[in-house]
Amino acid sequence: MTIAVVGSINMDVTAYMYRLPKPGETLHGKEYIVGLGGKGANQAVAARKLGSDVAFIGRIGADDFGKGAERALTSYGLDLSLIAKDHDGATGIAIINVGEGGENYISVIAGSNFRVDLSDVEKGRAALEQSRVLLLQLEVPLEASLAAAAIVRARGGTVILDPAPAKDLDPTVLKAVDIITPNESEAGLMLGWQPQSPEEGLRAAKELRARGVKAAVVKLGGKGLAVAGEGIEKILPAFKVTPIDTVAAGDSFNGGLAHALEQGQGIEMALRYAAACGALSTTKKGASAAAPTKAEVEAFLSRA
Ligand code: ADP
Repeated sequence: MTIAVVGSINMDVTAYMYRLPKPGETLHGKEYIVGLGGKGANQAVAARKLGSDVAFIGRIGADDFGKGAERALTSYGLDLSLIAKDHDGATGIAIINVGEGGENYISVIAGSNFRVDLSDVEKGRAALEQSRVLLLQLEVPLEASLAAAAIVRARGGTVILDPAPAKDLDPTVLKAVDIITPNESEAGLMLGWQPQSPEEGLRAAKELRARGVKAAVVKLGGKGLAVAGEGIEKILPAFKVTPIDTVAAGDSFNGGLAHALEQGQGIEMALRYAAACGALSTTKKGASAAAPTKAEVEAFLSRA
């Protein structure tokens, strides 16, 4: 295994609307899809679609949504052996509304994701020990994620934390990982002020790095990203695309970043590769389903 993921698995029920409903309002929309989601699954699928070997540690319930999740993970070539199954638990779900311009709001019920624990990490120890990159998010208990981080780092691997959904993190967490990748609002919550422009994104990245993480990448949606790390402090513009659904753009980005780093790319090239993955994912519907393949990213980058 070259990449490990400890994270959430959801089934996403996504409604495509002409506009987002207001509180108390009932609206007819265009269509819906049910597909694999959860930041952990999205990032695992994104890295797998790019050709990486991925070990995925997570938890589902023994219910219909869990069966759907297993089918989807298998269809992408992911191994289920480190996915624990709760016989009395419920598979996580996300209820997603997408508006005409691709903007969204999302309600998540974590279910079994909140039961990922140290025994799950222990079962995955051998895979973690072989991983060059570990992808973490904040949709499973932090204790399990940090235990996995310690295993990967002890062997010289790189730990990427996507601090999403936004949470105020204990300062020690930033020292336990190598790269953090908040979007604008997550960076805003961590810092107490909200970056509004690429220049402010760079200031945010520098402030986050000063808290003890090796590199901070602030994802700025259609405005690109800002990075502050060893030997690199810069703004990278976004690729030009026409977004139809921005759900999981950040997950495609992180999967792409892990893949590129695992392939030995330097941080700047890896971020460019990740940005191409994020941009391409906005041109397709769905979460995991929207992540691009290696061939799609290569064709896109050769045209850019
Ligand atoms: P998140 O999904 O975590 O909120 P972002 O929306 O910032 O993260 O997206 C992650 C990355 O994907 C961005 O930094 C950018 O590189 C790319 N991306 C996202 N939205 C767009 C867009 N509209 N156009 C081009 N690239 C995009």
